Amino acid sequence: MRFDNTYARLPERFYTRTSPTPVKAPRILKFNRKLADELGLAPPTDDAARAAIFAGNVVPDGAEPVALAYAGHQFGHFVPQLGDGRAVLLGEVLAGGRRLDMQLKGSGRTPFSRSGDGRAAFGPVLREYVVSEAMHALGIPTTRSLAATATGETVLREEPLRGAVLTRLAASHLRIGTFQFFAARRDEEAVRLLVDYAITRHYPHLQGAENSALALFNAVLRAQARLIAQWLGVGFIHGVMNTDNTSIAGETIDYGPCAFMDAFNHMAVFSSIDMQGRYAFGQQAPIAQWNLARFAETLLPLIDADKDASVRKATEALETFMDVFRGEWLRVMRAKLGLLREEESDFDLANALLNVMHDADLDFTLTFRSLSSRLEGEASVEEDPPALKEWLATWRARCERETAPAAERRRLLDAVNPLFIPRNHQVERALQLAARDDMSAFDLLLEAVQNPYEAREDLLHLAIPPKPGERVLQTFCGT
Ligand code: AMP
Ligand code: MG
Repeated sequence: MRFDNTYARLPERFYTRTSPTPVKAPRILKFNRKLADELGLAPPTDDAARAAIFAGNVVPDGAEPVALAYAGHQFGHFVPQLGDGRAVLLGEVLAGGRRLDMQLKGSGRTPFSRSGDGRAAFGPVLREYVVSEAMHALGIPTTRSLAATATGETVLREEPLRGAVLTRLAASHLRIGTFQFFAARRDEEAVRLLVDYAITRHYPHLQGAENSALALFNAVLRAQARLIAQWLGVGFIHGVMNTDNTSIAGETIDYGPCAFMDAFNHMAVFSSIDMQGRYAFGQQAPIAQWNLARFAETLLPLIDADKDASVRKATEALETFMDVFRGEWLRVMRAKLGLLREEESDFDLANALLNVMHDADLDFTLTFRSLSSRLEGEASVEEDPPALKEWLATWRARCERETAPAAERRRLLDAVNPLFIPRNHQVERALQLAARDDMSAFDLLLEAVQNPYEAREDLLHLAIPPKPGERVLQTFCGT
């Protein structure tokens, strides 16, 4: 693995040098061979040597472990210092023509740990593994999971649990909270360095822009708008959209109590800690805009030397968010409805379907997936609720105005509307078994969600929504 660590070249106040804490008995639970091959990463082939690296017992050549400093708004409240309390950045690997952060999560205490133990349990680690790989397969920007490694140690939560470490790859771990950390300390020089760093690493086409802070802001705004639109297209609820969990690169990051919905509900919330529904499904776009406002605040001194002018420029940029988001959302929804042409009424058509689904408790994933078979022949079946029958008739009339052949549109529908998502009840079941050393359910689920569009007979049971008694109503962050 070839490391080239640019973040560790930034001034010392951006991080703390710290090593992962060795664990008792490292054992690989899951290794993402496909990802390693794609990237041309070649960790040791020997199981023990590989486990030693991914558990943090051996620091690989070229790595320079650091815990990153960041702050963040958590559920609306500003915390001036969060930082990597249970993770270390090993370094940046150059792989597959890209530069990727390699991070160990659950690797022991760091100077940012506060009262935490710096560790992670099997459940949250495997949960992030399967959900992030599902997101990737769905074409949604996300951090990736390279390995899950058992530590052979116990972590204490409500009960004793088995410990694990996740090896995560990310475009970077720059967060809105990273900028906030320095802005809160009135360290303008650091914010300026971060702007340059973010542009060089993620938005190189902006190099030489007249107003680099504003250019970066607009680029991050667009990336967030696109990301949230994609989440909404698969029924994903992040659950903890704090500013420290908002990636500057526009990737989905920090999978905690996240969930995919089964029955559609505009305001679905699963996270046990989200009492007020701040991060409910339908709140995610306005919350992204709120987070971006916090980002803009950190950039104000750089946008314009004149304070009023700076606020005006930042506000103008921020106010474009809903339009940009709406455009991205429409693009996602048109594809999901098999519409290649653009018509004014498409926005209402998409919303009408969501309202029908909401009112009739229809399964989000399967309703969309069924559209390909409803394009020709009988649109509706007897069991369909009347409101859905009516909507399908309108949709079919709209589809008549498409020019591409129906077979092609049918194929495209099945290529964007997944059959498999990591359904809560299946994830929970897989994790429960994994905690007892039975990875069979986890492996099957992973296989299904890694090929979400392919109707494989032997996996079809994983596409079925939960029966009333199987529904998982709450998810936990498990930290
Ligand atoms: P997250 O829930 O991943 O967004 O984390 C929020 C903050 O809590 C970050 O600063 C984490 O590093 C910290 N944190 C979460 N779990 C632990 C833990 N077990 N030990 C130490 N710090 C933690
Ligand atoms: Mg976090």
